[in-house]
Amino acid sequence: RGTTPVPPDARPRLTVLSGPSGVGKSTVVAHMRKVHPEVWLSVSATTRKPRPGERHGVQYLFVDDEEFDKLVANGELLEWAEFAGNRYGTPRQAVLERLEAGEPVLLEIDLQGARLVRESMPEAQLVFLAPPSWDELVRRLTGRGTEAPDVIERRLTAAKVELAAEAEFDTTLVNTSVEDVARELLALMRVV
Ligand code: 5GP
Repeated sequence: RGTTPVPPDARPRLTVLSGPSGVGKSTVVAHMRKVHPEVWLSVSATTRKPRPGERHGVQYLFVDDEEFDKLVANGELLEWAEFAGNRYGTPRQAVLERLEAGEPVLLEIDLQGARLVRESMPEAQLVFLAPPSWDELVRRLTGRGTEAPDVIERRLTAAKVELAAEAEFDTTLVNTSVEDVARELLALMRVV
């Protein structure tokens, strides 16, 4: 009587940002964090070693293999995947708590993780971040300067396969400008 029913698609929900390695997912997320610090972002656990400037609990929870095994065994991860020789996973409880509180949640994860989330939470919206071109993706992956040549090679091989996955996604955003993509993503999350 006194309430207006909320259309189901007006509710904030789980948004998954995925796409090939090097496409700029983490740059977009870092920009969002700066412009909208109130938007909560899931912090993944990883067995990868921190890059210069990365801090435990900010970009990732940096754990060793044994700790990661424990997270998996205890069912503490919503999804996890191995990527380029390291494991990455989304802590389950924090995500579910935020969703239950009605807050929008963003996961920045690889393609395998996006597929796993689609299976376990079909209501999630999957957003594919595409590079403006293949050449641009190669340039970004090579130019990052933080990875050894064999690691870059592995990531480029993965990226070729990953680009084909765009069709499985609900929405594609082309990463021509970090600001534009962040704005579009926030709109999809119904934050702005
Ligand atoms: P990077 O080592 O460059 O930080 O991340 C490598 C890949 O792992 C990226 O595609 C990134 O999105 C993905 N990734 C980060 N966290 C997670 C996670 O929790 N789960 C999955 N499946 N992938 C993740």
